[in-house]
Amino acid sequence: MKSLIRAEVSAAALRANLARVREVAPASRVMAVVKANAYGHGLVPTALCLADADAFGVARIDEALALRGAGVRGRIVLLEGVFNAEQLAEAARQSLDIVVHEAEQLELLEAAPSGQRFVVWAKIDTGMNRLGFRPSMAQSALRRLDALGERLLELRLMTHFASADERDSSLMRQQLARFDVLTQGRRSERSLANSAALFAQPQSHADWVRPGLALYGVSPFADQVGRSLGLTPAMRLVSTVIAVRKVSAGETVGYGGVWRAARDSQVAIVAAGYGDGLPRALPNGTPVLIRGARGELAGRVSMDMIAVDVTGIAGVQVGDAALLWGPELPVEEIAAHAGSISYELLCAVSQRVPLALM
Ligand SMILES: *Cc1c(COP(=O)(O)O)cnc(C)c1O
Repeated sequence: MKSLIRAEVSAAALRANLARVREVAPASRVMAVVKANAYGHGLVPTALCLADADAFGVARIDEALALRGAGVRGRIVLLEGVFNAEQLAEAARQSLDIVVHEAEQLELLEAAPSGQRFVVWAKIDTGMNRLGFRPSMAQSALRRLDALGERLLELRLMTHFASADERDSSLMRQQLARFDVLTQGRRSERSLANSAALFAQPQSHADWVRPGLALYGVSPFADQVGRSLGLTPAMRLVSTVIAVRKVSAGETVGYGGVWRAARDSQVAIVAAGYGDGLPRALPNGTPVLIRGARGELAGRVSMDMIAVDVTGIAGVQVGDAALLWGPELPVEEIAAHAGSISYELLCAVSQRVPLALM
């Protein structure tokens, strides 16, 4: 039996999005970013589906080990690196590329047994002020990495943009220029671009692009949806109508009575709540697609359900599918209603929601 709520992930869409990324950055290799359970799409199934990617990027070593455990043999990059000697040894054993972004990580590498070998991505902070060697420290950090000798299989260079949602960001251009200056004269492979830079800043493509969101078919830009960038949304979050009821004009629905029927109404109760990862901040009027038409959220999101005003939609009955987001209802639009971003909504899909790759 199908579960009431499920996240259906389209393998064809994931592959089409990888192809689209290659079309946009034809001279670059693609590091597919699959951290945070592949933005809610399922880490292992997504990676197996995107086996054509040139590398996978993950945030934590557990994610990398899960990929290796599932038989992923290709390049895996630990985007935050390792934080102790055991993790470093594990990275060597499992042939994981490591990002190095701070002095403690340099010290760990310098103390590593000579049998351990690493591909190191040196991360330079060009303006994000989160991870990475500050510009004033970059040259000395790179020299220390050069001095690792045979422990260093290869040194690569990267930075990360602070703008993930703007088309033409002066900060992005400034970061690009800084990175050029700081890495001048080195022949190492370079990587800068997240999804936003992939589309907005072709000069940032370099040797490796690092899209996350775009691979899932979702736009990083506030004023665009994935489709308009040639992407195909990969996830359909779909649930089921579990009750239909009449509400008389003047009555309220749900906790706090924050929705009041302006007329005699029909309301569908849908099995999807903040326990499934729906933002509780979604306001009245947020669209939910039932029988191909847009119903409107009526009242607060509860843990396990929502109420949807379906007064204008004919024939709604128990068992009907209710689409929370997907190709026909962009997650970008739902995120805007929540005052959030698509990234957060996708990652928040909770563990009790079964994922089905189809
Ligand atoms: C998450 C992440 C990305 C992917 O960003 P998107 O905006 O999802 O494309 C790229 N690089 C690094 C270092 C990241 O942490």
